[in-house]
Amino acid sequence: MVSTIRELVEIESPSDNKAAVDRVAEAVANKFSRLGGNVRFHHAKDFGNHLQVDFDLPRKSAKSVLLLGHYDTVYPLGTLATMPCRVVDNKLTGPGVLDMKSGIALMIHALAALHQWHVGLPRPVTVLLVSDEEVGSDSSRAITESLAKKAAAVLVLEPSYGPEGAVKTARKGVGEYHVKVTGKASHAGLDFQKGVNAILELARQIEKISSFTELEKGLTVNVGIVSGGSRTNVVPAEAAAQVDVRIARMKDAAGIDKKMRSLRPFNRKCRIEITGGINRPPMERTAGVAALYAHASAIARELGWKLGEAAVGGGSDGNFTAGLGIPTLDGLGGVGDGAHATHEHILISELPRRAALVAGLIEAV
Ligand SMILES: [Zn+2]
Repeated sequence: MVSTIRELVEIESPSDNKAAVDRVAEAVANKFSRLGGNVRFHHAKDFGNHLQVDFDLPRKSAKSVLLLGHYDTVYPLGTLATMPCRVVDNKLTGPGVLDMKSGIALMIHALAALHQWHVGLPRPVTVLLVSDEEVGSDSSRAITESLAKKAAAVLVLEPSYGPEGAVKTARKGVGEYHVKVTGKASHAGLDFQKGVNAILELARQIEKISSFTELEKGLTVNVGIVSGGSRTNVVPAEAAAQVDVRIARMKDAAGIDKKMRSLRPFNRKCRIEITGGINRPPMERTAGVAALYAHASAIARELGWKLGEAAVGGGSDGNFTAGLGIPTLDGLGGVGDGAHATHEHILISELPRRAALVAGLIEAV
């Protein structure tokens, strides 16, 4: 498994480089094809191609399981030079090793093991690996949703949670808004009163927007980026803010969206424009999700280990499939730390039982 992961990590694949992502897609496709899967690329113009692999059975006895993940990473080409893929004691390091090239390797090795035990697979399996997850999944979302609708369950091989490798049974939904304020420029010395200060207006809006947070509901609003103004001696005509919104429950989506869109200028001489919206629904811990987790923890128990579960703030493509009501279990991938950071790594000793867990789930659900 380590050599499979190393091979994938050493093909760098930043989301914004189509040629690079297509290279890793080819390498991954070859591995699934050697296992007998029917490989099909969904062409994407601005991103790498998305990869669908179907393992069909001669007679469709059961509904399929969808294994879901992505092969794009957040690291620019050349990162390997400063962050090489190396074994250091029990750790394997490198860009994307945790998020989520080890998850892809787990899929490959779980399917290979099932092939050996059953002389074929116990049920139809579809694999979908997308190329744009780290940048919002705009070009792959429709494919993810259409394949999920045909599946009995979705297993997401994103990184697990914490040092014990808990699976993720709830994820917050994510929204992004852009707030643009237009005032009027003037000379700060000669014509101060003719100006309308867009930064001042935005500052007031930021207080208001920040007050939309309701921690007890798991609803948070974070103004993460602000910009505005040109020179200190000019009353600024423009200012803008980018806002990250997280919701734990789908029923809070409409309310916060309405609040954002109802923002009105404090100073009537300013204009305010709001764009954006909620782009990933929350993955809620439905009965279907809880049942999948119960299967997973029973399999882990048989393997002599206690599998925990976690609710997290970050989103993944599992949010889309769970949002459709398809039972989804996320965080089945590698165990480690430092996703998107220079110390990204996985724990090698965790790999065998994670692969066994994925194989067991494919059989059981
Ligand atoms: Zn990921």
